[in-house]
Amino acid sequence: MTLLPRIVKWVERSTSSIYFRNRCSANMSTNNKRRLRVLVDMDGVIADFEGGFLKKYKQKFPNEPFVSLEDRRGFWVSTQYGDMRSDLCEKAISIWESKNFFIELEPLPGGVEAVKEMSKMENTDVFICTSPIKHYSYCPYEKYAWIEKHLGPEFLEQIILTRDKTIVTGDLLIDDKPDILGVEPSPSWEHVLFTACHNKHLPPNPSQRRLLSWADDWRGLLESKRQ
Ligand SMILES: [Mg+2]
Repeated sequence: MTLLPRIVKWVERSTSSIYFRNRCSANMSTNNKRRLRVLVDMDGVIADFEGGFLKKYKQKFPNEPFVSLEDRRGFWVSTQYGDMRSDLCEKAISIWESKNFFIELEPLPGGVEAVKEMSKMENTDVFICTSPIKHYSYCPYEKYAWIEKHLGPEFLEQIILTRDKTIVTGDLLIDDKPDILGVEPSPSWEHVLFTACHNKHLPPNPSQRRLLSWADDWRGLLESKRQ
């Protein structure tokens, strides 16, 4: 090979490797700015399930004993009512199986505003990740309607209804249920426990972060996952 074609080949090789290096750098910077995916539970996190339950239970069963929000212990309302008197378990369940229970839940303070704000943050995807009850006559429909009413119709694209949250991928799951179990033993998300009347008495767990309310530093929590 004469000198000129060899020089041409050398220049071709060099420029193509620079080209690929630049492409790799561009990809790396894209990866550094990868999007954060936040999964936000609904009941007990943005919708006041406990308050709504107690109000309707007292209306429907004015002469039955009830558990004040101060005295709530354990995730399952029906279990605590059943422990008080066995027939109260079914009475409690009848409340959230009733028409209009889920749609009429009040938003928890600051929740709707926080979710709207985080969905507008750069490089952030927010999904409402919620488990419908198995009595499905009203609950799934009313969850969609609640989200449309309080978060806006654009949020209908960001709803995940599942009984098993372990199979959903994300960086953060903000949820008031202390133990979130399912078929996936190592979920991709970090579960941040949202404080609720039923879990605030649990002993501190060093391996689980908490969000005390929506007045707590949720922005710092998201930031910590971008590091
Ligand atoms: Mg919940």
